[in-house]
Amino acid sequence: RLLTYFSRPISLASGAGSIIVLRDVSELRRLENVRQEFVANASHELKTPLTAIKAFAETILESDPNDVPQLRHFLERINRQADRLSALILDMLTLARCESHAPGFEIQSVSLRHIVAACVDQFREKAEGKSLALRAEVADDADEITADAEGAATILRNLLENATKYTPEGGRIAIWTERVDEGIALQVSDTGVGIPERDLDRIFERFYRVDKARSSELGGTGLGLSIVKHLAQSFGGSVSVTSRLNEGSVFRVIFRPSDDGEMAANASSRRD
Ligand code: ADP
Repeated sequence: RLLTYFSRPISLASGAGSIIVLRDVSELRRLENVRQEFVANASHELKTPLTAIKAFAETILESDPNDVPQLRHFLERINRQADRLSALILDMLTLARCESHAPGFEIQSVSLRHIVAACVDQFREKAEGKSLALRAEVADDADEITADAEGAATILRNLLENATKYTPEGGRIAIWTERVDEGIALQVSDTGVGIPERDLDRIFERFYRVDKARSSELGGTGLGLSIVKHLAQSFGGSVSVTSRLNEGSVFRVIFRPSDDGEMAANASSRRD
């Protein structure tokens, strides 16, 4: 524990004295370290695509302007790196929004059925391109949650993005919801590469990747799961994962049911 103190003179009826105030600043120091680490990581992550863009642009400037196929090749690579840069910036903005004091969420009753249907539609083409079977089921008693609609959709999109990225051709992805003791669980399972046990605790950290090269190659920013965690917590829920290497993973997000308040009110009126 890190303590700072300051003393203040005070006057008492019985004479003068002083008061010493001890303040635990270890949490402040920890937050400052987290912030510094984030800035260092973010700068590094932003610099990588920028350096590549600069190198490709210089190569174009030095190459034969009539060699159209070669120019196209480098322009395509610039384009891909620019996409990576904008994905990173978008994810960083989403994270910053989650952490701000006024994230602008509209917390209300939201139907998981609608969100799941919209996200499945969005991912159908991607899944078909990799011959992945995509199945979704929303239970009647595990549909209405308390959340921001766009935030809840971002959670599912990020989990689906990972499931499609880290599952080899011909695999299976399933989405389902169920009522559990803690609330309503939204689960996404895949038959993908899985996550080594030693990394399970760390994958929700910003910029943490099990295999950095594979993640970058697949267009990952390393921020997807920390966004999922922050959003879930903003809505009073949580996220967890179980996984087996080379067999697959199951991500489970817990939301507060929208009848939570009603249930609590009913319970208290029954008590009254
Ligand atoms: P990324 O942009 O790298 O995918 P995420 O924060 O979304 O970043 O995920 C962090 C890391 O967790 C990934 O780099 C990957 O190693 C691992 N991971 C996430 N989802 C899965 C999954 N469904 N299957 C296997 N590994 C996963």
